[in-house]
Amino acid sequence: MALITRKIKGTEDVLPKQSYRWQFIENIMREESRAYGFKEMRTPVFEHTELFARGVGQTTDVVQKEMYTFDTKGGESVTLRPEGTAGAARAVLEHSLDNEGLPIKASYFVSCYRYEKPQAGRLREFHQFGVEEYGTQSPVADAEIICLAQSVLDRLGLSGVHLEINSIGCPECRAKYNQALREYFTEYKEQLCQTCLSRLEKNPMRLLDCKSPEDHKIAEGAPKITDYLCEECETHFGEVRKYLTCAGVDFVINPTIVRGLDYYTKTVFEFVTDCIGAQGTVCGGGRYDGLIEELGGKHMPSLGFAIGLERILMVMDAQGIEIPNTDVCALYIATMGDDAKQKAFSLLRQVRECGTAAETDSVGRGLRAQMKYADKIGAKYSMVLGDNEIAENRAKVKNMESGEQTELALDDSFAEKFAVLLLADEKAFKI
Ligand code: ATP
Ligand code: MG
Repeated sequence: MALITRKIKGTEDVLPKQSYRWQFIENIMREESRAYGFKEMRTPVFEHTELFARGVGQTTDVVQKEMYTFDTKGGESVTLRPEGTAGAARAVLEHSLDNEGLPIKASYFVSCYRYEKPQAGRLREFHQFGVEEYGTQSPVADAEIICLAQSVLDRLGLSGVHLEINSIGCPECRAKYNQALREYFTEYKEQLCQTCLSRLEKNPMRLLDCKSPEDHKIAEGAPKITDYLCEECETHFGEVRKYLTCAGVDFVINPTIVRGLDYYTKTVFEFVTDCIGAQGTVCGGGRYDGLIEELGGKHMPSLGFAIGLERILMVMDAQGIEIPNTDVCALYIATMGDDAKQKAFSLLRQVRECGTAAETDSVGRGLRAQMKYADKIGAKYSMVLGDNEIAENRAKVKNMESGEQTELALDDSFAEKFAVLLLADEKAFKI
């Protein structure tokens, strides 16, 4: 039978040797979101298609062109989630989380599926870390989630990622703005792409988000939303900027940011870098005060952001940021003979109980081959157990880099003594 060895276009594998990179960034994201009071939420990878049609918005690229939608055997239309917000909002409504007090603060890690043209930084299966906050219209919340995203990027050591913010107002200011946009773009009707033409009537703001270079150029001269904000939205935007300044977060105002979802209101923001090519947005977010109502709930102003994990790793690579590899084997015990094998087995249990990564031969190799393997996996220390060591109940652990050897008793204190050795080493070499 032919081997099936090709992954689906636009998907990527994370291999055992690379997973520490993902875990490193995910741990920082978990820690930072906890510090800001967000608790993790997990929702299904697929939902009723209707949820995304309403939650992401009918006129968006995502819904119009990019969703993986299929009918189940039971005849239901389901869709692989293209983003994390709609599922989170659905869960908030389904479990009436508002009864537990507002605001509801949730974070998530999700895989997302979009049928896009695969290229650097643009995949068909990709991963996001995000947060959601439901039940607050205060500008403090907007500033707080932006600060959280900034803290994550700072702790990851990223540089040259700048924050762009905008306010796209509420439905009232947008009605006037949309009219101005319609008038502006109508003059360029002949030059617009087909998709934009169809959006001109229904949702002209989408034209500002078009990826076609010609349309993008036309959009540059379009009226700016910031000139159409009502008093309330203007004040809200001013407060968000005030709190960001208070927290020492730098930003630039970019009146062309509209974001890809239909239900964004007021604040929208992106963290952008130019070090990974055209797909330079690493984080996007904002407010969606109308979303919960759109899904059939009561008025519950909400906001959130999502960070693309693949893009973050690309930036870290591009900037040469070293990710500490904590997945290394600290001790490899090589054995000769059955007694040694058994001793190794009991010692390993002790060492592993202390949370230290340790291994022994599980293949049946000879001593030389075992040592070669220890070298190959990059073990920090090795120890050879044979009849002599068993008889004396002592053995030498060898630092594989410096060659230095330390003798340890093979008793109940072994793991503890080895841990002390390792700790001194970590201090010296910053493993
Ligand atoms: P873009 O303008 O790059 O298409 P978007 O507005 O569609 O982004 P969001 O829906 O806001 O993106 O998703 C948040 C983040 O998820 C993006 O800022 C990006 O880092 C990441 N992301 C979005 N689409 C992809 C994709 N196809 N492949 C990899 N990462 C992605
Ligand atoms: Mg997109």
